[in-house]
Amino acid sequence: MGFSSLALDERLLKALQARDYSEPTPIQAQVIPHVLEKQDVLAGAQTGTGKTAAFVLPILQQLLQQSQPSQTPKVLILAPTRELAVQVFESVKSYSQFTHIQSTIVYGGVSIGAQVEALKKGVEILVATPGRLIDHLFKGTVDVSQLSCLVFDEADRMLDMGFIDEINMILKRLPKNRQTLLFSATLDDSIFALSKSLLKQPKIIETAQRNAVAEPVEQIVYNMDSERKREFLSYLIGSKNWQQVLVFTRTKQGADALAKEMNKDGLVTQSIHGDKSQGAREKALKEFKSGKVRVLVATDVAARGLDIRQLNYVVNYELPYIAEDYVHRIGRTGRAGDAGLAISLLDSEEHYLLEEIEALLDTRLNQQWFPGYEPDLTKESSTNRKNSKAAQKRRAKQRAFGQQTGQKRRRS
Ligand code: AMP
Repeated sequence: MGFSSLALDERLLKALQARDYSEPTPIQAQVIPHVLEKQDVLAGAQTGTGKTAAFVLPILQQLLQQSQPSQTPKVLILAPTRELAVQVFESVKSYSQFTHIQSTIVYGGVSIGAQVEALKKGVEILVATPGRLIDHLFKGTVDVSQLSCLVFDEADRMLDMGFIDEINMILKRLPKNRQTLLFSATLDDSIFALSKSLLKQPKIIETAQRNAVAEPVEQIVYNMDSERKREFLSYLIGSKNWQQVLVFTRTKQGADALAKEMNKDGLVTQSIHGDKSQGAREKALKEFKSGKVRVLVATDVAARGLDIRQLNYVVNYELPYIAEDYVHRIGRTGRAGDAGLAISLLDSEEHYLLEEIEALLDTRLNQQWFPGYEPDLTKESSTNRKNSKAAQKRRAKQRAFGQQTGQKRRRS
């Protein structure tokens, strides 16, 4: 089925052609007709499935059907992080490139002045992160009274990051009579609860099994001692001649320290996390995309929503405390049907995290030893015995971290 069967405007089809898209992805084929019929939608779609175009294309189609372009936003797309917002905005720009539709983006960490000026020029589509949008609402620099469509992208992450108060604050200021689309990588009870208060008789669309990872991603878990992980990672990247590898750590400090060591190993590496300025993050991402940087080490929040085309390798240097983050991490590879490999380096302290991931995925992951990097089992068992109380305490702390939804995660 080609895009032409979805009754999209010629100008949008031309933009799709320019991007070499020949067929809609399953989420696009299912979501687009309902959005065009002005229905509310709750869609469970992983990253990499083409979900952005699934809402952007029909939104543009609706705007093209209006007799007069609007000077104030008709569409608001909310995204949890700056990176995701930028990415969605780039998609909006790309899909609307042959139309008159104007759009802009507002996000924190940069000066507000230029955003105010861009809004003044008149836009129909506004992409925003919640915090900065609220700044604009309070300053009165954005008029949302004419809004007809509201999109939540990666709503699960918005809840994880503790944005619920911001969401409610924004909702109070939006017209009640509107179309609402809610996209989430995972559909769980909290998302259903949110959707109940937000959506009117939504069409519920799930393209893949709940919480499933993108199909073509091969997942391997290597058991090894934590102190040998860095050496192994450099060896793996070097010996396999991998050119673009995204590596995840749990902490900002961990990301910086690993990047430093990898550089010493001769692999050009950058780190991205919440303590880096927006400019530094964008530069690192750009250099990674262009191939100047071979390894990008990222924390979960910083990497959220990154769209890196043809990324074949993702490494979990440490498993995440929140099992859902594993799905998001490895969703960076195998995008839109490309093959991908996700490798997790598992030390003796992380088995319970793997169990939580396996429970979420409802599958067992293939655990292996890599010749030359086998874990030292004698050391492991004695350390485990010695530290069993300490390990229990640490696990309780880590669980608490995982359940935490507020400030802390937003900053990482
Ligand atoms: P998303 O899930 O929206 O982040 O999209 C994942 C990747 O798939 C992005 O690189 C998109 O540009 C790409 N993509 C989206 N739709 C299609 C399509 N119909 N055909 C090929 N690639 C697509």
